[in-house]
Formats: sequence, C-alpha cells, structure tokens
Amino acid sequence: MKTGKVYLVGAGPGDPGLLTLKARDLIAAADCVIYDYLVNPKTLEHAAPQTELIYVGKRGFESSWTQAEINRLLLAKAGEHQLVVRLKGGDPFIFGRGGEEALALAEAGIEWEVVPGVTAGSSVAAYAGIPITHRGYGSSVTFVTGHEDPAKPESSLRWQHLAKGVDTLVFFMGLSNLGEISRQLIAHGRAADTPAAVVRWGTYDHQETYVSTLDEIASVVERKQIKAPALIVVGEVVGLREKLQWFDRPVEDFQFADHNLPNPFLELLAS
Ligand code: SAH
Repeated sequence: MKTGKVYLVGAGPGDPGLLTLKARDLIAAADCVIYDYLVNPKTLEHAAPQTELIYVGKRGFESSWTQAEINRLLLAKAGEHQLVVRLKGGDPFIFGRGGEEALALAEAGIEWEVVPGVTAGSSVAAYAGIPITHRGYGSSVTFVTGHEDPAKPESSLRWQHLAKGVDTLVFFMGLSNLGEISRQLIAHGRAADTPAAVVRWGTYDHQETYVSTLDEIASVVERKQIKAPALIVVGEVVGLREKLQWFDRPVEDFQFADHNLPNPFLELLAS
C-alpha cells in the first residue's frame, strides 16, 4: 500500500514570524498536522480549513501521549494521508525527540524529511538580549538537557567538562533541576558569581527574563515561582543583556546591578 510522506517540521520558539518559509508552505499544503504543546497555535492558522489538526502535547493532569503512541499515530496518519506534518517546537532535532520519530518512520519504510526550525537555544536567548557567543565572553556554547536528574550517579552529563570546558551553557527543560545543576557546576569549578538567566515563554509577548548569578538563580526561580517552559543560560554573555535588552521589559528586582562583573565587561559597558 502506498503511504504518504511525513515532514518533521520545526515551528520555531513561539514568535509566529520565526517560522521558516518551508514550514509555512508545508503547513499550508498538509492534509494532517500533528502538533505539540510548545507550538504556538497561531502557526496553525497557515493550515487549510479541511486539514486534520491533532494535538499530542501535554493534557494538564491527565496522562500525556507517550512517544510510542505518537510514533504509532505518525505511521497511521501516513497510511491515511498524502502529506503529514509533524510540527514541533523549535528545531525537531534539538531535544525534540525528532530523531526518534524519524527512526520510527525510516524503520517502517515511510518517506520522510526534516525541516529544521529556529531553536529556542539561540532565539530565546537573543530575545532576552543575550548573544550566546560573543568575542571575549563566549567562544563556545553547549546545549544541555536539564531534564536528567543531575544527582543520579549514572547521569550522562559530564559535569567537569560542562563546568570548565565551555563558555556558555544553555539548559533546556532544566527548571525543576536548577538547584542541582548550579550545585554541580559550582562543585566542578564554575565560579559561583557567573551570570545566569532564566527566560520563560521566550519570543512570546509575555516573555519574562530573570537574571542572577549561578549560586542564586535557583532561589530566584523558587521565590518567583517560575514555571516551564523556560530556557536557562549560564555564562559571561548573560551580562550583555544589560546593554542589549530590546524585547521584554525589565523584571523589577533583577539582581545584576550588585553583581561583580568581570573587568572586561565593565570596560564594555562603559564604552
Ligand atoms: N526542540 C526545541 C526544544 C524542545 S525541549 C527547540 O529546538 O527549541 C523543550 C524545552 O525547550 C522547554 O522545556 C524549554 O526549556 C525550551 N523552550 C522551548 N521553547 C521555549 C520558549 N519559547 N521559551 C523558553 N524556553 C523554551
């Protein structure tokens, strides 16, 4: 039986303007769009009225779709339709489990393609006024999952390398483990006063940005009761926000003013 083709498409971080042209055209042409919690619903306005729209994101306190169920759904819809779009937040191959879905399609012999998207890892930081690399402050950056429990002995994260071997660290899904993430980084040699930012609902009009230091940021999150989705950025580049904030409004009791900026920073800010 001839099956349709499945496109794993990145929807970007939230701002509807950060959708690629290819993503927009595929959504418009799709017979069926299967989308996630982190896809801005406005993105779906590009779909034709008859397009079947299926939400497989969080369902509040009810049980969510498992990855196996989503994979089965993709195969089933490829059997029913010519063109299926699997729409995922950000970039499908960056912590989106897009790789697993691609494998399921490939193993089932279904035609598929990936359409990379604008990842939250760079764009959410950018909307917070943080270039994740910058000459003099960050010549390397690492995207890290914060979902893994950093305290568990078999953690696959190599904390000594993350702490000392990379300038900028960007944690996805890290809010609930932030205290432990900070402790591990400091224990493995990252300075406690390294600037750190938490950006919630980045690139949306209601984006919130909080800046503090590595040793304090978890208590800011707790005090402010900051909830997911949020991206965490750790590194000297976070200090650039002071000059480069352009999108969101300042969060009132932001801690950075009394933070000891490294010397080159003070020069930069004074210039
Ligand atoms: N594939 C996505 C990431 C999926 S993992 C991408 O490339 O962006 C989901 C995590 O991404 C969230 O828990 C959060 O840490 C981050 N994230 C995604 N969209 C975000 C947004 N608009 N603002 C802040 N964080 C976001």
